[in-house]
Amino acid sequence: MSYEPDRFDFSQPVRIDLYSDTRTKPSRAMREAMLDAEVGDEQAGSDPSIWALCDYAAKLLGKEAAMFLPTGTMCNQVAIATHTRPGDEILAHEDAHIQSSEGGGPGAISGVLFKGLPGDRGIFSADTLRAAIRPISRYAPAQTLVEVEQTANKGGGACWTVAGLQAVADVAHTHGMKVHMDGARLMNAAVALGVPASDICAPCDTVWLDFTKGLGAPLGAILAGSRDFIGQAWRWKQRLGGALRQGGMNAAACLYSLQHNVDRLAEDHANAAALARGMAQIPGITVEMPETNLVFFDLTGTGMTVSEFAARLRPHGVSVSSTDAYRGRACLHLDVSAAMVEEALAIMRMVVQPR
Ligand SMILES: *Cc1c(COP(=O)(O)O)cnc(C)c1O
Repeated sequence: MSYEPDRFDFSQPVRIDLYSDTRTKPSRAMREAMLDAEVGDEQAGSDPSIWALCDYAAKLLGKEAAMFLPTGTMCNQVAIATHTRPGDEILAHEDAHIQSSEGGGPGAISGVLFKGLPGDRGIFSADTLRAAIRPISRYAPAQTLVEVEQTANKGGGACWTVAGLQAVADVAHTHGMKVHMDGARLMNAAVALGVPASDICAPCDTVWLDFTKGLGAPLGAILAGSRDFIGQAWRWKQRLGGALRQGGMNAAACLYSLQHNVDRLAEDHANAAALARGMAQIPGITVEMPETNLVFFDLTGTGMTVSEFAARLRPHGVSVSSTDAYRGRACLHLDVSAAMVEEALAIMRMVVQPR
């Protein structure tokens, strides 16, 4: 058994990459921002471009301080490790990325237990959280952290409302728990809800956002919280190998993405809606109507698995991903135009044969 990814078949290029919103390539202008970036040694506090990004992001997120990290996964792991002690329990939606997709990091790195909460579209209610809280006793693990995902990835890119977050955070804080937001697609939520990111994450103690999901940067994520939290988190950043040197080149790309690629996320949401409407008209496909840039669909009615569907799309240069045998995902991002959506729909209509 090898965990190494299969090597991409470079002879079969993908023209319309709906596989993930991580598939964006840095634009010319973004690469130029990287070339021109002033750099130093981040570990020694001397990289001005990273400091500039941290200051900009802390303000954007309404937090005292921020920390640059290479990936969103490392943001989650650093945050969990900083908020908890071994033996604690964290509560999050049962489909949370930290549970399914981070290699068991919370258990392996922080030694914490995970309690999954139910809820439609990746979102749980304050009542559901309240019902999961146990009386404090020496028998039970200490429940110290609640985690929410904005937008909820496996929930179809659904948005937590500010009211929903506030209600959950109130319950958590009443019970002495911290609230951490996995804001991989926080800016998509901010654009879709028409609410500033700082208002969305105000109820949360800590938050991070990803620069490689739809914002179009090649690498990087930012974790924000109180000055005290970020100060403590630096030990984990160092310990996990996330303390950088001339990371300013990447920070410059991330800052560029915040300054140029946020408002245009609305185009991705419109393209997602168009793709969803078109796919819903293909016999046998049912579609979960998107709130943001992720379109989840079910192929049960076609008798075709998502792997078969993907294999038929591939020679036409279209790529989609699967979450289950029959449930798949198509992601919209800045390298997919409205015209490409129409083209992808025409190809989908062609490869799905009515039974
Ligand atoms: C992609 C993603 C992550 C991990 O981010 P990376 O930058 O790929 O490490 C975490 N949470 C959610 C919800 C994601 O979609």
